[in-house]
Amino acid sequence: MEKVDRKLNIFFLPHFSTSHLIPMVDTARLFVAHGGVAATIVTTPHNARLFQDSLDCDSESRGDIKVHTVKMPSAEVGLPQGIENIGQCSTPQMIGQLFKAIALLQKPIEQLIRENRPDCIVSDMFFPWSVEIAEEINAPRILFYPSNAFYHSVSHSLNLHAPHDKVQSDTETFLIPYLPDQIEMTRSQLQDHLKTKTLYGQLINMIKDTELRSYGIIFTSFQGLEPAYVDYFKKVRGIRSWHLGLPSHFIDRNKYRKEKNSVLTEQHGVLSWLETQKPNSVLYICFGSMIRFPDAQFSEIALALEASGHPFVWVVRKEGKAKENGVENWLPEGFEERVKENNSGMVIRGWAPQVQILNHPAIGGFVTHCGWNSVLESIVAGVPLITWPMFAEQFYNENLITRILKIGVEVGSGVWNPGFEITSPVVGSDKILKAVNRLMGGSGEAEEIRRRAKELAEMADRSVEEGGSTYTDLKALIEEITEVVFQKD
Ligand code: UDP
Repeated sequence: MEKVDRKLNIFFLPHFSTSHLIPMVDTARLFVAHGGVAATIVTTPHNARLFQDSLDCDSESRGDIKVHTVKMPSAEVGLPQGIENIGQCSTPQMIGQLFKAIALLQKPIEQLIRENRPDCIVSDMFFPWSVEIAEEINAPRILFYPSNAFYHSVSHSLNLHAPHDKVQSDTETFLIPYLPDQIEMTRSQLQDHLKTKTLYGQLINMIKDTELRSYGIIFTSFQGLEPAYVDYFKKVRGIRSWHLGLPSHFIDRNKYRKEKNSVLTEQHGVLSWLETQKPNSVLYICFGSMIRFPDAQFSEIALALEASGHPFVWVVRKEGKAKENGVENWLPEGFEERVKENNSGMVIRGWAPQVQILNHPAIGGFVTHCGWNSVLESIVAGVPLITWPMFAEQFYNENLITRILKIGVEVGSGVWNPGFEITSPVVGSDKILKAVNRLMGGSGEAEEIRRRAKELAEMADRSVEEGGSTYTDLKALIEEITEVVFQKD
């Protein structure tokens, strides 16, 4: 290959949700830190503000990461100004408007790409149209799946063999055919679009079609976590893939940052509170950036936490009228006062510094909705999980955690929700308490789960060191793109 004396010019197109945006931005930072790449992240002004701090922290970027902002067409779709991210939407109607606005951005982004002719496009899955513009400018398109190969393998098998069509009820279990492991699910755990025709299902089919027209796929899991599924997915889909783990972990471990961002760290005093707690004693409860619970669910969680007696950090996302006549009517009476008085926990309202919390030695368990970023962050921190999946692909992730990796126990949520507004039956405090005691109670089973979680964390660390699978995959990916692009030049 003839060496061309310039950097690869790569456009990154992240989706408008925190859990897709942040790992893609971190991937762009990794590319640049590796060397030979100049990255342009295309997004809207509000979304750009969500990650600007992390770009400012990089020691290696030397101006090689640019952010190109496009104006959100809010007025055109009746969306309030400044709402540019799914996490900011408080109603399903707003989500609909946001998706309409995102669709309107296709044309200006295509035009931008036409004018700049990047060497390569790394595109979020939710922009299937980017396959066309990549073909038009003859640039390799990399499909970005901020998830794991296990989920995509299960999804492939379900689409092809539809075992869920052969059961008599929503609660009867069926086996997912031809997977490397015996994985069972129920219809009640599956996304709607697998059971009936939906618009979202059409979008998913379009996304799957783009797999075969892309140069390859980036997954945000690492090979050692799911080797059988990395191979299985490659075999059944015949697609190149690279497994870059948790990109922020890679960046931290390789000291690509000038310093850790400390702005958020002590906002809630949570890290200093954790300093006062015993190792592995504290339960961390957080359900990601989107989930909205009904009031009754908050009470059940609070009851279980009090009954368990384990110290906790509970991140509560609650909007609207949290208080009536100055009283929190969605928590058991006096709950927060007792927690403060007994120093038995912390309730954080709003955004918590999750990664820092998970990495604190006092944290002994994480009650999670199984959003993939949260799961991966917990794996990297060596923290075992209590799984409480609710929507999207979270039930698949639960299977990976509890059946394959064996680093968690189920709360038994059982029913998939069509969106982030949770309408499935409230999970009672008895069920929550049982799962908490199972994981935090110090039984032989809990010790084994904890041991495995630590083992996986060590594996995650090794994967980002020189010679590790993530390190090798990143290097191989950039080398392959370089070769493809410079062969054209
Ligand atoms: N997160 C955080 N603080 C919070 C809530 C969430 O830092 O209070 C981060 C979390 O660390 C993760 C992301 O938001 O990186 C949530 O992504 P995930 O895939 O777990 O769930 P989603 O938000 O997509 O449901």
